[in-house]
Amino acid sequence: MKYSVDENGFYGHFGGAYVPEILYKCVHDLQDAYIPIIESDDFKQEYRALLRDYVGRPSPLYFAERMSRLYGCQLYLKREDLNHTGAHKINNTIGQILMARKMGKTRIIAETGAGQHGVATATVCALMGMECEIFMGKTDVERQHTNVERMRMLGAKVHPVTTGNMTLSDACSQAIRDWCCHPKETFYIVGSTMGPHPYPDIVARMQSVISEEIKWQLQEKIGRDYPDLLVACIGGGSNAAGTIYHYMDDERVRIVLAEAAGHGVDTDYTAATIHCGTEGILHGARTLVMQTDDGQIKEAFTISAGLDYPGIGPMHAHMAEKGRTQVVAIDDDEAIYAGYELTRMEGIIPAIESAHAVAALKHLKFSPDDVVVLTVSGRGDKDVETYLSNKQKAREYGNF
Ligand SMILES: *Cc1c(COP(=O)(O)O)cnc(C)c1O
Repeated sequence: MKYSVDENGFYGHFGGAYVPEILYKCVHDLQDAYIPIIESDDFKQEYRALLRDYVGRPSPLYFAERMSRLYGCQLYLKREDLNHTGAHKINNTIGQILMARKMGKTRIIAETGAGQHGVATATVCALMGMECEIFMGKTDVERQHTNVERMRMLGAKVHPVTTGNMTLSDACSQAIRDWCCHPKETFYIVGSTMGPHPYPDIVARMQSVISEEIKWQLQEKIGRDYPDLLVACIGGGSNAAGTIYHYMDDERVRIVLAEAAGHGVDTDYTAATIHCGTEGILHGARTLVMQTDDGQIKEAFTISAGLDYPGIGPMHAHMAEKGRTQVVAIDDDEAIYAGYELTRMEGIIPAIESAHAVAALKHLKFSPDDVVVLTVSGRGDKDVETYLSNKQKAREYGNF
């Protein structure tokens, strides 16, 4: 597999495991353990059963007829918004908590930005009866109060982080510090295809169920198991990784990823790391990072809390560099508009993150036969206020 991780944990020159010495053993134990666990029959059975009976998989592949007509292509939506807890993140947390159990760990920690990964982690900890501690920037604790309450109701302890900008990047650093203090009993459930090797590969494998299903669902619906084009939004890169996993080396399939431009890639208010980042080390991996000339991490800015990360998964840095993926930067207004468009055209209110993927359609040219699969990574219930307070932006486009 050309684009998957090599034996040293690298994707081209991106990736690796840059961790403090005290975590070497932990990270190496995980590197040795993860593939045998994931490939064991035992794990596969438990994981599959939970995905089916608890998460509600397979998620539908839905032919969006009106949007297809609008864009002049055959558009299918992969409905990760219909999963338990409302997004793709639970595919990963279910897998990682099973892995933690197999490794004899008793305490779970996780970082969260918008709180979606925190909720998905607290959910599976409640399910398994495991201790759960979540690190979340104090700014985010205040902005995302409902998710904090959900985590607490599920039994998690939420630690507001007061360093730096008090957002996701600081929460990641604090989770790594906590892990250093309790390496023996703790399993760190990372929320996206980021962090030191083997995390990007673990998360990509856990989310790969998305493209595994797309394959047989397309076969059933159109008589061939691949699309012409895949579209997904990209924050750290996990729903995108899952969407493309089984097609990465299949050059018949074009891949378009949408990152969050915020106010625009030529402003300071952006989260478009692939467009604006430079090489550096962030949270244990060499990747593209939004940073100042002297290596200070810049705060990411976007209307979408789930895409608000100043780094990017190393596999995506690599694939973009090699030209395997086309990355478009979608600004806040485009995302709001696209969110309204999907809502009015198909009766599906997407997460504002997923709306970035929908907005990418306007940047593309199609021929009528093109089969396009777009992943709706999450549902928009959490974003209704954001949509309503920006509805003028949608009207400006004059479509309603
Ligand atoms: C967290 C989140 C994302 C971004 O994370 P990725 O790891 O890039 O997938 C996208 N969509 C939704 C709904 C999310 O909750």
